Amino acid sequence: MGHDGWQVPAPQALRAGPGFDLAALDRASTPGWSGDREAGEPHAAARGERLAELQELLFAHGRTGGTRSVLLVLQGLDTAGKGGIVRHVIGAVDPQGVMLRSFGVPTEEERAHHYLWRIRQSLPRPGYLGVFDRSHYEDVLVVRVAGLVPPEVWQARYAEINAFEEEVTASGTVVVKVALAISPDEQAARLRERLERPDKHWKYNPGDLDVRAQWPAYEEAYQAVLDRTSTDVAPWYVVPADRKWYARLAVTELLVHALEGLELSWPPSDIDPAAELARLDAIRIPQPGGAAAD
Ligand code: AMP
Ligand code: MG
Repeated sequence: MGHDGWQVPAPQALRAGPGFDLAALDRASTPGWSGDREAGEPHAAARGERLAELQELLFAHGRTGGTRSVLLVLQGLDTAGKGGIVRHVIGAVDPQGVMLRSFGVPTEEERAHHYLWRIRQSLPRPGYLGVFDRSHYEDVLVVRVAGLVPPEVWQARYAEINAFEEEVTASGTVVVKVALAISPDEQAARLRERLERPDKHWKYNPGDLDVRAQWPAYEEAYQAVLDRTSTDVAPWYVVPADRKWYARLAVTELLVHALEGLELSWPPSDIDPAAELARLDAIRIPQPGGAAAD
């Protein structure tokens, strides 16, 4: 009997390689992971602690002149769980080291610039874990499906995005691109829940149903993204997202692997700890009453 855990490492099990077929993906599956939810949740918590440790290492690296950073790009249809990943996976690390940006419909100012302008402005600085909730990929997803620009314009963007990501990775950023893949039935259940619960109404947008009605066109646009932009420097990972516990476990694991790949160690310091401890012991703070504390 096999034991619960990653039978295949997450980056290997989830990577969209050549010939990857999104239509054939079972969105309730748990690629690479052999256990159930009862095994997955405690494992994710333990790996979340490891992630927090690695993120602190990255932050320390940045504070001492290091140039590396990590960028998590989250894509997925409405209700796929992007927000849950931010809350649960990114929520496990120190917020001071995170640069989070959500990309919605471009503002007037953003529309006046090239579509990568707002993306460049949001790239993580050295030492930071950047998180994009949606990204420049919307410029070949919603923009393509809704016909917001002529085909020749979005068609040229795949190569441009690849060149952009090559530049970003060359400057020291590891880019982890995650597409959360949900099934139509699970999306219907999640949209229904948003409609039935007043505390979820704020997340509901009537436009979500217009997007849902174009499901096949979005699948086709996602397949094109995977075919054309899953590169060696910035591969796509496709995470089945019907089981929230698995998606969170998988994204945690992908980030742990990305950070471990940096092979960072605690920055060297020129302090003399023994001498500093002696100085610490020598300092006497006067008590409010007058006598010095022992
Ligand atoms: P949400 O992530 O639910 O807050 O929704 C953000 C909305 O912004 C989604 O409907 C996206 O499709 C839309 N959006 C994001 N980027 C773009 C873009 N570049 N052009 C048009 N719509 C976009
Ligand atoms: Mg939404």
